[in-house]
This record gives sequence, C-alpha cells and structure tokens, in this order.
Amino acid sequence: MISLRCPYCQVGLKIDESKLPPGLRSFKCPKCKKDIPLSILGEGGDNLSPPSDETQVFTPRKSGIGRLTVLPDANTPEQVLFLQEGLSIVGRRSAQPTGANLRIQTADRSMSREHLRIEVKKDAKGRYKHYLSDNKSKNHTLYNSNYLGEGEVVILNDNDEIIIGHTVLRFNE
Ligand SMILES: [Zn+2]
Repeated sequence: MISLRCPYCQVGLKIDESKLPPGLRSFKCPKCKKDIPLSILGEGGDNLSPPSDETQVFTPRKSGIGRLTVLPDANTPEQVLFLQEGLSIVGRRSAQPTGANLRIQTADRSMSREHLRIEVKKDAKGRYKHYLSDNKSKNHTLYNSNYLGEGEVVILNDNDEIIIGHTVLRFNE
C-alpha cells in the first residue's frame, strides 16, 4: 500500500499499487472526483528528474520486493522508496548526479550520498530476501540500534529500523 495526498482537495488516500492496471496514467480522486496524475517508474527505472508537486510517483511492483519508508522529521519529509530486484544504493539526493538509484530528499547532511546498499535476491523457494550493508559511508549505518561493521551483511525483516545520519528508515516486505 502507498499513501498519498490528493493535490486538489488534500484528502489522504491509500492505494494498493499492486492492484492498479499497468500503464495507468491517472486516477479519479474518490472525494473531489478530479484526475490525479501518476508517474509510473518502470522496473529498474531511475527517475533522474525529481517529480513535480502535482505528480504522485510510484513504481508498480510485485509484492515482497520490499520498501523503505523514510520517517519525517525537521530535515526530511516522509517518503517511500521502492526496492527492486538486484542492487539498490540509497543515499541523500544532491544537485550532482550520484551513484545512488534510490535518493532521499533531505537536509540531513550527515547522510552520505551513497550511504547503504540493499540487494534483493530470490531464495530457493522463490521468496525475496533483502541483504543490507553499509556502503563505506562517512557516518556508518545503524541497523536495529547496532552499527554495521565493514563488509557486514544482514538480512532484513519486516519492520526493521535503519538509521543513516539522523534519518530513520523503516523496512517493510
Ligand atoms: Zn481530491
């Protein structure tokens, strides 16, 4: 499920993104009946230009690939990063291009631009596993209150907490 706000009437909406038909470019707000535009990111897609305020961005996805919710604080608005199969690098969005493909909009300068790595792989039973490691970040990565050592890899579980810089991320399957 993703949460978003109608840009016209500001009503909060919850959408099951896995049930939306592929190729959908907009949908009707149930309250004000206006069309809310959607940007669909392709599988493995990378949005180089940040979305406009009127555009709700999400990635159509198979369930179980997982997502990171960035918890809001004074430096950072709430945002959801959708993981994809293979390697994702997560870090602070900056004006210069970075090697991160999942970028967090934040004023938290203690977060590196390429802070952590999550590799999503299927196990023998076809279930997704999520392997988290620090990406040699300046201020390291806290996983459920423990700093990850160099080269250490942990497997994420639903509702795990990751802290990069001063910013808290929650993992969900
Ligand atoms: Zn509306």
